[in-house]
Amino acid sequence: MGMKLHELAYRTGFISYVIVANTLIDMYSKCKCVDKALEVFHGIPGKNVISWTSIILGLRINNRCFEALIFFRQMKLSLKPNSVTLVSVLSACARIGALMCGKEIHAHALRTGVAFDGYLPNALLDMYVRCGRMGSAWNQFNYNKKDVAAWNILLTGYAQRGQGRHAVELFDRMVESHEDPDEITFISLLCACSRSGMVGEGLEYFRSMKLNYSITPNLKHYACVVDLLGCAGQLDDAHEFIQKMPINPDPAIWGALLNACMIHKQVELGELAAHQILKMDTESVGYYVLICNFYAQCGKWEEVAIVRKMMRKRGLTVDPGCSWVEVKGKVHAFLSGDNFHPQIKELNAVMEGFYEKMRSVGFREPDSSPTNEIEASKAEIFCGHSERLAVAFGLINTAPGMPIWVTKNLYMCQSCHNTIKFISKVLRREISVRDTEKFHHFKDGSCTCGDEGYWGSSNK
Ligand SMILES: [Zn+2]
Ligand SMILES: [Zn+2]
Repeated sequence: MGMKLHELAYRTGFISYVIVANTLIDMYSKCKCVDKALEVFHGIPGKNVISWTSIILGLRINNRCFEALIFFRQMKLSLKPNSVTLVSVLSACARIGALMCGKEIHAHALRTGVAFDGYLPNALLDMYVRCGRMGSAWNQFNYNKKDVAAWNILLTGYAQRGQGRHAVELFDRMVESHEDPDEITFISLLCACSRSGMVGEGLEYFRSMKLNYSITPNLKHYACVVDLLGCAGQLDDAHEFIQKMPINPDPAIWGALLNACMIHKQVELGELAAHQILKMDTESVGYYVLICNFYAQCGKWEEVAIVRKMMRKRGLTVDPGCSWVEVKGKVHAFLSGDNFHPQIKELNAVMEGFYEKMRSVGFREPDSSPTNEIEASKAEIFCGHSERLAVAFGLINTAPGMPIWVTKNLYMCQSCHNTIKFISKVLRREISVRDTEKFHHFKDGSCTCGDEGYWGSSNK
């Protein structure tokens, strides 16, 4: 329908009205046809602030954040961005961990007097939290009007870092300052409890949300409780909890149980959860990846192949692996298997040097030496190892001792996790990698995630 209207706009000449073209950009972006949106954008003779903002937001919501930042730089050459533009760019920065770029926008917003407009204060807060700077986030938080969204952003920050105690303290402060918690508050709080193994507290919060705050738990809250029980090893309780739910469980609920079964190596219950998910005909790639990982770790390669086939049949593909690292205020992107980067030889040589050192101290061949071909393709598809290139790039291009921050769009495989742990030890560098699931802070050969979710923490 949108395309038909586009054609009609073209035939009637209304396409020359910039407001029509801007709306087309919005439509194509939201229908996930960002290339069509780009076509429309490039065809506009007198692009205004809204045209640029629409395309930047379009790129952002289609996960093309790196390009969104490039468009923003181009835009600034001829036009003054407004607060909506800045919110869109900040969201792109937050997604790929572009802290310097985010700070630049913060300075720009203060200079132009829009730093307190609309959603911008919370977008800045979110950017600092997601780029891993809780200190800066607190400054931003203290400096602004605090609404429930702002509290929730900070809570989510602690949840992602697995800092349950901090989250609980923050929640207490929130209640003291008479801010009413909402549904999202409890999702963050339950998630924080789960990551910190605070089962008793978590269950208590789950009970209190309805009792004390009149919030009816939704599927997300139930999934948090399954995660809470499951990750703590109480798998039967988690299963029983699912069976007693007053609403029908969705794939996220079974996914939480499957994830817990993976951590605690409960093959039978895990298979039950996997079957439930596959029965639901979900379109979400993440669950298939989870199921493949589960079967792969149980060594059930035939099942891996069946699920892969199902994914192909349903037209589901995994995004190509990509990592971003910010060096001297500029973001650099690395795709899996990128052989065209100008420094690729140097980067590979740096990594080879580490593999050599790792072998010499008795680590198993670190560079994807899978026991069989399916495992190789699994690591390649679900991790892509792109963070290794980003880390190597950071090492070459920054002064010794400088911390390195990497963001990636897929999960981090065990081999990459071990390799970066090793690098942090030999080079005494702090390296942070934010993958789709959590923050990993590597220091002196260990990671703050405590190797949770990786089978057999040592690679020796
Ligand atoms: Zn990897
Ligand atoms: Zn880790």
